Amino acid sequence: MNEQFKLNPADIVRFYLDAGVDTPLLDNPINRLLDTPVATELKSQISPDKLLPQGQKAQPNSFELDLTSIKTLEDLKAALEAFDGCGLKKTATQVVFSDGVPGSKIMLIGEAPGKEEDTTGKPFGGKHGQLLDLMLRAIGLDRTQVYIANTIYWRTPGNRPPTAEETAQCLPFILRQIELAQPELLISIGAVSTKTLLTSQAGIMQLRGTWSSINLPSLGVRPLLPTLHPSYLLRNPAHKRLAWADWLSLKIKLKNM
Ligand code: URA
Repeated sequence: MNEQFKLNPADIVRFYLDAGVDTPLLDNPINRLLDTPVATELKSQISPDKLLPQGQKAQPNSFELDLTSIKTLEDLKAALEAFDGCGLKKTATQVVFSDGVPGSKIMLIGEAPGKEEDTTGKPFGGKHGQLLDLMLRAIGLDRTQVYIANTIYWRTPGNRPPTAEETAQCLPFILRQIELAQPELLISIGAVSTKTLLTSQAGIMQLRGTWSSINLPSLGVRPLLPTLHPSYLLRNPAHKRLAWADWLSLKIKLKNM
C-alpha cells in the first residue's frame, strides 16, 4: 500500500472522537438487558429500595404488580394513574384509558394515543378516529356498541413508535383491562397491538384479516381479528379495500354468533 495512505490507529480514534463518536460499538448488537451471571449476582445483592432516599419505596415493575386484585375498570385506571413504571407518563398529559362502553361484545385495541387523545383522554380522536367511526358505521356499529382501548396508555414523545420496553410495561394493564371489560371478541388495530397481543413477529399485512385468538386466565379464549390502522389507511387509501374485507369479516362473525 502507498505509504501516504497508511493511517495511524491513534489518528483514526482521534478522528472519530472529533466527530463526536465516543462509544465503541460492535458489528452485532448486544442486548445489555439480558441477565448475565454477573448481573444476576449483582441484582441479588442490590435491593432497589437501597438506591432510593430513605423512606421511599421503589415502584414495582409492571411485571411484579399483581393486577388480579384489581376488580373494576375504574380501579385499573386509578392504578395506571398511580403507576410510575413507564417513562412515557413524564412527557404525556394524562392516561388515555378507554372510550365506548365496557361490557360491549366487541373490544377494539389500538396502538398509542396521539396529540388529540393526549388532550381529550379518549382513544381514537382526530382524523383517524373519524375514519374508524366510518368503518364501524359501514357495518352498522358505533362507539356505543364497542369498547375501545390502546396497547400503550400514554402519548409517546412526538408520536414515535413505542419501544419494546414501554410496550412490555403496559402489557399487564391492557391484558387486565380486557379481562375486566369481558368482550366476546377483539379487534386489534394496527401492527403494534396485533403483534403485542398475539406475541407474533409476523407483519400486519400477513396477520390482518385472519381470525386468531387470545387466552386470558380469568376470561378464557376469545377470537381476535387483526386489521389495518386508520392512520395507515389515511396514508395508503388503496388499502382501504383490505380493511373493508376485515370489517365485513367481523360483521359475518357477529351474525353467526
Ligand atoms: N392511534 C391509536 O392507535 N390509538 C389512538 O388512540 C390514537 C391513535
